[in-house]
Amino acid sequence: MIYADNAATTQMSEVAFNTMTNLMKEIWGNPSSLYTKGQESREVLEKAREEIAGVIGADAREILFTSGGSESDNQALLTAARIGARKGKMHIVSDAFEHHAILHTLNRLKEEGFEVTLLDVHENGIIDPAQVEDAIREDTCLVTIMYANNEIGTIQPIKEIGEVCKKKNVLFHTDAVQAIGHIDIDVERDNIDMLSASGHKFNGPKGVGFLYARKGINLSNLIEGGAQEKGKRAGTENVPAIAAMAAALREKKDTLEKNATYVSKMRDKLIEGLSSIPHSALNGDAKNRLPGNVNFCFEGIEGESLLLLLDDRGILASSGSACTSGSLDPSHVLLAIGRVHDVAHGSLRLTIDETVSEEEIDYIVKNVSEVVEYLRGFSPVWRDLVNGKREFVL
Ligand SMILES: *Cc1c(COP(=O)(O)O)cnc(C)c1O
Repeated sequence: MIYADNAATTQMSEVAFNTMTNLMKEIWGNPSSLYTKGQESREVLEKAREEIAGVIGADAREILFTSGGSESDNQALLTAARIGARKGKMHIVSDAFEHHAILHTLNRLKEEGFEVTLLDVHENGIIDPAQVEDAIREDTCLVTIMYANNEIGTIQPIKEIGEVCKKKNVLFHTDAVQAIGHIDIDVERDNIDMLSASGHKFNGPKGVGFLYARKGINLSNLIEGGAQEKGKRAGTENVPAIAAMAAALREKKDTLEKNATYVSKMRDKLIEGLSSIPHSALNGDAKNRLPGNVNFCFEGIEGESLLLLLDDRGILASSGSACTSGSLDPSHVLLAIGRVHDVAHGSLRLTIDETVSEEEIDYIVKNVSEVVEYLRGFSPVWRDLVNGKREFVL
């Protein structure tokens, strides 16, 4: 089996797994308890907080533990909205290809009276800092732009966007769930005020994540109750998962350069191989993308059929679209970069990691090529394209 869906989730690393299981067995006290058994949990918790802060250039007091990327995104946006509303600032700037944890939260804020500007994304999957600057108004309370896109992997000019926000005195949040652990991030260098992360996207456990919020930002609670996390997120902390997340992130940081170099090389080999399929196109900029992300459109086929046939051949991939619940809507990300509906339906996302071998890349190229040709063989759309009844787009 070749697992090529690391953008959906990753397998826990050895160190994360061992940390988690050992702690579950040994360090089970409640970190809020004052006796020694509780305080040893508290110590593990605070060490994890320091470890994570260190990786992104933050202070430990600026790290809030959450249940994952979605919760971090929700809390960041609601916090900025409440701060804005108190000053009569009810305008938010974001973009059209954010994760649904951002887009759906923005919809909720719109219902509450906020105005949202969603920036267009360039064909190459990149947002220009000048677009952000133009969109910021007197009443803008937040700019939220993802660090790297989860479908097409394009990396945004975050440092420059952060600079614009700093200059304009507007809070800047970034959903860094896909980026952290895979590319180098420093919240000071990148001018980031708030950042969302999720453990299971960098070989940590699921159901745990964190939100970085710059000192001075008064976080709004999503969950009320006890005084955990400085009163900003109630509920007894999942200490083993938090410590495992910290261990996973530390390892990712230590091996980042080596992995990024190798994985980018494999990515480029995969892109080169798939490019030889006729009427296909890479989605998103070829170079300015996450080391492990490859996303293609193939004209005349259905992404879902392609996935099922690849699964039969031991390749686990994704269409990169959100149509998990049987909805036939094409990916909002591919539409945002200007792919037409028909083409967006025939998409394939392969997200590889450092465990992939060159032989496996060859195997993927060979099998995707065969399956695309096979599916085109009985596709009415493909027949129309070949007969000239429809025009090729790619
Ligand atoms: C996976 C993902 C999320 C959601 O994270 P969870 O921990 O699964 O809630 C949010 N944003 C992006 C970009 C993601 O890839």
